[in-house]
Amino acid sequence: MPTAPDLPMLVAAAGPGERHAALLPTPTDPPTEVPAFALRGATPGPTLLVTAGVHGAEYASIEAAYRLAAFDPTELSGTLVVLPIVNRPAYRVRAIYGNPIDGKNLNRQFPGDPAGSFAPRLAHWLTDAWVRHADAYLDLHGGDLNEALTPFVLHARGDERARALAEAFGLPYVIASSSAGHSYAGAAALGVPAVLAEAGGQGLFPERDVLALVDGARRVMRHLGLLAGEATPRPTVPIERFVVLTSDHEGRWYPRVRLDARVEAGEPLGEIRDLLGEVVQRVTAPVAGTVLYHVATLAIDRGDPLVGIGATATGG
Ligand SMILES: [Zn+2]
Repeated sequence: MPTAPDLPMLVAAAGPGERHAALLPTPTDPPTEVPAFALRGATPGPTLLVTAGVHGAEYASIEAAYRLAAFDPTELSGTLVVLPIVNRPAYRVRAIYGNPIDGKNLNRQFPGDPAGSFAPRLAHWLTDAWVRHADAYLDLHGGDLNEALTPFVLHARGDERARALAEAFGLPYVIASSSAGHSYAGAAALGVPAVLAEAGGQGLFPERDVLALVDGARRVMRHLGLLAGEATPRPTVPIERFVVLTSDHEGRWYPRVRLDARVEAGEPLGEIRDLLGEVVQRVTAPVAGTVLYHVATLAIDRGDPLVGIGATATGG
């Protein structure tokens, strides 16, 4: 197999103050081609990598990545690299969570495996050929096709440089996460500060959510010195515990929650009825906190997430 394309190769194709765009072959089986943009500033500086489309139906984040790729490179001091649809098979079929090749959730595979199936190989390529060469990394997401979500940012717990990036991004909630397999965890293992920013959901891409991600990325670029100007601080709420409740059944899901609403421990959040109509699961909040996202479709399967609650250090 020829050498897989990587970040330095893409950037080398752009002269100072220029943008270079290409469809790049992925070292996966089957191979796919993903869109890639390098924006080289007129003056040197840090390299920021932005990805979107790890989940193929999170459209506000994909649109935001394309807006970033359209920035004027001459305004940059450094390099911006954008991969707006990294999981192209998932994008093509509008997949929720997974992809049509191996069915795996790409955002559980980092740092990946070069000998694995499609998703772990793609994760390995992203980590080894792209994230490794960046000074900082933003992975843009949102609620999936079935999820309603209020904007938040995740970073690896204990990574202070990543926490500073997350605070600079400026979305309302900042979550310190210990989850393995996520893009920011793979980056943290390489010493590259990274955040995963989420806005939008339910297959929509309203301007409000697109701009929340574009403006957040712009603030991060100021924080890094890639763009001129002050990274104006915004008030953010630190979330110390992110509790995701899951379904024990296939059936119909009736959420009784509002996004961004405060819930108390024991408060009802919804119920699941089985395929014959019986109530089989009453879902209550195990902790006090804020509803950051919930599945908004009637259809639910065993093991699916239902509601994500963010709890602050003070217990709510
Ligand atoms: Zn996602």
